[in-house]
Amino acid sequence: MSAPTVTSVTAASPAARAGLATGDELLSIDGQEPRDVIDFQRLTDAADLSVLVRRAGAPLPRLVRVDKAEGEPFGVEVSSAVFDRIRTCDNHCAFCFIYQLPKGMRRSLYLKDDDYRLSFLYGNFTTLTRFTELDAERVLTERLGPLFVSIHTTDPELRAHMLRNQKGATSLRWLQVLLDGGIEVHGQIVVCPGVNDGAAFEDTLAGILDLYPSLASVGAVPLGLSRYSNEPEMRPHTEEEAIRVLDTVHEWQRLFRQAVGHRMVFAADEYYLLAGRDLPPARHYEGFPQHENGIGMARSFAESFARPAAGGPGGVRHGFFASVDAAPAEGYRAPHLPTEAVGNDARPVTVLTGTYGARVLGPLVDSHPRDDIEVRVVSNEFFGGNIGVAGLLTGEDVAKSLVGVPGPSRCLLPDACLNEGRFLDGLTLADLPRPVEVVPADGRSLRVALDGTTFRPACSA
Ligand code: SF4
Repeated sequence: MSAPTVTSVTAASPAARAGLATGDELLSIDGQEPRDVIDFQRLTDAADLSVLVRRAGAPLPRLVRVDKAEGEPFGVEVSSAVFDRIRTCDNHCAFCFIYQLPKGMRRSLYLKDDDYRLSFLYGNFTTLTRFTELDAERVLTERLGPLFVSIHTTDPELRAHMLRNQKGATSLRWLQVLLDGGIEVHGQIVVCPGVNDGAAFEDTLAGILDLYPSLASVGAVPLGLSRYSNEPEMRPHTEEEAIRVLDTVHEWQRLFRQAVGHRMVFAADEYYLLAGRDLPPARHYEGFPQHENGIGMARSFAESFARPAAGGPGGVRHGFFASVDAAPAEGYRAPHLPTEAVGNDARPVTVLTGTYGARVLGPLVDSHPRDDIEVRVVSNEFFGGNIGVAGLLTGEDVAKSLVGVPGPSRCLLPDACLNEGRFLDGLTLADLPRPVEVVPADGRSLRVALDGTTFRPACSA
């Protein structure tokens, strides 16, 4: 177990007043060693703390008294969210995107986690195959929800086959325990054609209604397939299969509404784009419970583009992490690239995006009064396969697409392409052949940018 290491101290906070500094290791708080940032948050929430601190160069750790009121922010950020070991995944799903990454990318991208704490903190999905009695006790006692669970199928044998792990046949018993304990849980089904689609998908929705009717929502998402996949059983959906998934989801929404009073199951935006169907209206998404999973994202984008002053539909969740000031997202969900609006620019605009983004943006840009806006599709040659989302574009592919953009244009790129200022292939904006403006990936920001406002990275201010 490693101790939380301070990466920054807020000025005039209790931690600053007690003399804590960057680099200090916080070995214990009131005699307890925090296992993760959830413990850390709970322990540092108390009044007047005794913190055992190890400082580089000091011969021994020393006990530091921190005077603070109960609930007053402690005032430090620490280097990691989990201080004991992250629970890694012991499944080997054929559709796992981590197996479909080429060699040589950032190490953190290859981390296969299956840790309920990262589900709570970051909204990562867990299969519960590594969940234990002690975990259940903690989740129920500390009310660690919402959690996000990969269901895939309610057929035990098929689930073990899909996870390539015999524990997959039984681990959904924990889902029952969580729901019985009143924890809010959202589920997902990664639909793989020929494996858990068709009749198997319908059986899964029937199984959910039968066994887990108190789930908060279920997302049906298509598998992502890169050209590095070595799995002969895996293939992308055809248009007909996407239509069938949508028809099944819509039929089951009707049944769920009758049985439990809400739609429960939602299809990923990708299905509507693949099927060539219109996206449902915002009210269809019942508060966008799986926005971060690509469900309703296109609709909320369109809404906030059309009505930027309204700020888009409410209820879009960004996970508990947004409210945890001690935990960095590094390695899991790092921030993209903070930007700020700085001025005005009337030059023609080229908007760069992935194939799916272009299908959403095309009609929006057409509705804009300007006629000098081009939506340029960046083809994902790096990953190939059916990878069409902007969030998986690499610097190399963006650079290729910039060739041929007319000289005077402003080039806009969604911030979803960047994690802490880097593309997935490690390139930065400085490696691109021409300046590119990074715009937050929401409809309001794009609308404001097309109306002439310019953005720049906030760190260069
Ligand atoms: S459970 Fe998730 S991380 Fe683990 S192998 Fe399957 S897809 Fe990959």
